[in-house]
Amino acid sequence: MPIDLRSDTVTRPTPAMRQAIAHAEVGDDVIDADPTCRRLEERTAEILGKEAAVFMPSGTMTNQVGVRIHCKPGDEFLCEAGCHIYNYEQGAFAQLSGLVARTVEGAAGVLELAQLQGLIRPENDHLVRTRLVCLENTHNRGAGKVFPYEELAEICTWAHEAGLRTHLDGARLWNATAATGISEAMWSQHFDTVSVCFSKGLGAPVGSALAGPKEMIREARRHRKLFGGAMRQDGILAAAALYALENHRSRLIEDHANAQVLATAVTETEGIGLFPADVDTNIVIFRVEPRLGTAAQFVAALKEAGVLSLAIGPQQVRLVTHLDVSREECERAASVLREVAEGLASGKRAATQLEAAY
Ligand SMILES: *Cc1c(COP(=O)(O)O)cnc(C)c1O
Repeated sequence: MPIDLRSDTVTRPTPAMRQAIAHAEVGDDVIDADPTCRRLEERTAEILGKEAAVFMPSGTMTNQVGVRIHCKPGDEFLCEAGCHIYNYEQGAFAQLSGLVARTVEGAAGVLELAQLQGLIRPENDHLVRTRLVCLENTHNRGAGKVFPYEELAEICTWAHEAGLRTHLDGARLWNATAATGISEAMWSQHFDTVSVCFSKGLGAPVGSALAGPKEMIREARRHRKLFGGAMRQDGILAAAALYALENHRSRLIEDHANAQVLATAVTETEGIGLFPADVDTNIVIFRVEPRLGTAAQFVAALKEAGVLSLAIGPQQVRLVTHLDVSREECERAASVLREVAEGLASGKRAATQLEAAY
């Protein structure tokens, strides 16, 4: 079996989670209610310190319903240039809701208030209306970067004072809490709506939730239906998510410690380097120096040696730790990483010498 570090979404339900799924009490959640899904929604809202939450099949949907309920067609939201909502959801905000995004380049996904001040457009018939700020914590492209708490609070306070709404893409908010000890509710209090995923680090097979004030979540339910995300006996899925929520949050620190093993290997290996330089949580991104080849070649060599990774740019490779990889497997992956980099470097050296010989 290869060591699969492509994503924290590759986890399979644990035996205990499968038991929870098998015993889930269910009902038709479109006609009236599914009791297990209702419990998941209540528990999620409680953890996030919000009045209500609504379960959806994916984080893409919770994000898109989130931006949808805050904006009208022709409105604009501000977001960081590398964020998931802008880059990895097919521009659904434009396709489905007629919205415009204004991106601002952050440092590993982190924005400063000064970068946003002045971006709110004045009321004028020529202009779109600025309505919303979206932040991401932890930041996927930023190598699982935790948004600094004070900056985040400052941005949201400014946004609300300026009459904007705020949405958090918290697909990995659980990791931010595990890394900082700042509760999910503390982070969430600064946002009108918060999207969280159960299918990433928590290890559930399917599902996300959008949390916020009752009125907004009622509106979100309408749009979930519109987007095709209302589900029938979804307690089957909710049972897994609820199990994950209660049992898998506290272990995320193990994933973070395992990521450090990989990060150290990258730092100590010539020809590859952490980019961004800090690994806060469970995502490690590194740059492959062109003298070793491309990211795709590096990924292929890792695969050959039994480690699965993802090329996320021409020279960028991503590794993600999760529930289904142990410390020992991460240590093995770390040695493989060193060997592959060394192998590629000497292979290239040999090729260059060969060329020189002719
Ligand atoms: C994975 C992810 C999502 C949602 O992805 P789905 O595959 O649609 O569940 C949203 N935001 C971030 C930052 C993510 O990493």
